[in-house]
Amino acid sequence: MKKGFAKNGAALLILALVLVLAACGKSGGSEGSASSDKPAANSAAGADANKDGKIKIGFSMDTLQEERWQKDRDLFKAAAEALGAEVEVQSANSDDAKQIAQAESLISQGVDILVVVPHNAEATAAIVEKAHAAGIKVLAYDRLIKNSDVDLYVSFDNERVGEMQAEAITKIVSKGKFVYIGGSETDNNAHLFKKGAFNVLQPLIDKGDIQIVYDQFTKDWNPANALANMENALTANNNQIDAVVAANDGTAGGVIQALAAQGLAGKIPVSGQDAELAAVQRIVEGTQTMTVYKPIKALAEKAAELAVKLAKGEDVGADKKVNNGKIDVPSVLLDPISVDKSNIDATVIADGFHSKEDVYKNAK
Ligand code: BGC
Repeated sequence: MKKGFAKNGAALLILALVLVLAACGKSGGSEGSASSDKPAANSAAGADANKDGKIKIGFSMDTLQEERWQKDRDLFKAAAEALGAEVEVQSANSDDAKQIAQAESLISQGVDILVVVPHNAEATAAIVEKAHAAGIKVLAYDRLIKNSDVDLYVSFDNERVGEMQAEAITKIVSKGKFVYIGGSETDNNAHLFKKGAFNVLQPLIDKGDIQIVYDQFTKDWNPANALANMENALTANNNQIDAVVAANDGTAGGVIQALAAQGLAGKIPVSGQDAELAAVQRIVEGTQTMTVYKPIKALAEKAAELAVKLAKGEDVGADKKVNNGKIDVPSVLLDPISVDKSNIDATVIADGFHSKEDVYKNAK
């Protein structure tokens, strides 16, 4: 029985094969495109690339809360479009589940590559897995995605950002009670900024020159949370604070509001980052000491160029590696620039990041 079945089965298989081959041969010449298009149409990515030849980039952003992210969105879109690609942007409003759902939707829309600004460095590893399962590569934009096989990381030297913040503050006050107002704990950058700041602060702590009297992350980088933390720091220390290292301009704004309420704004040095217009104006007014300018145009253009290359399967030539807990991620890290009163004109204004008129609007 078994033998007979095997024999008949084999005969049927050969017959089927012959029929299939004959059918292929028939359509292969004249109407080849109809049959060869079919698998591509099933894979959405292939369909899009085939339809208009354009690379489709999905840009999954954590938030548009800080001024910079609106620049990132607009500059990235412009740079990608100049390279002939199209960009679909989604912003998750600091919500992990939402960011994952939005990325899934971009994947099913058939993007050729995903560019992700993760809200949560760990949770977004799920996005990398899902994208890879669909044959789509992932570029981590500005913030690293941890414990994943993410394909590329394009950012600034974020540890250096933290060093610049602490260097500028300790140049003014190198003794006394310091407060550290960090970024969002779920953002890998917040840890790098802190590491950098403490590269500078720790030797002074060890010498006994400075004391960290308050050290907190700021949930979701929200300035209102930074304000509340700074109020706590002031209350716990009877307003006896000598300096504040704040991780970005948003948190610095909250810190300075808390200081102002105690009549201390401008009397205590405060750092920042992003060269937001409000922060640069505070530097001119004297309530904020410094900011770190990160040329967003350079980041957006680099990321767009490399996203298109990744989508085409070309070599991206990333010169650095950053370990994300699972792999050494090929990385491109741009240089940040420390900005205080003395070089606002030569940096953010010269670059056209802000106009001179806007920066000095409130100056007397
Ligand atoms: C970015 C900063 C930004 C912060 C809050 C960080 O990951 O590097 O530029 O201020 O997130 O959005």
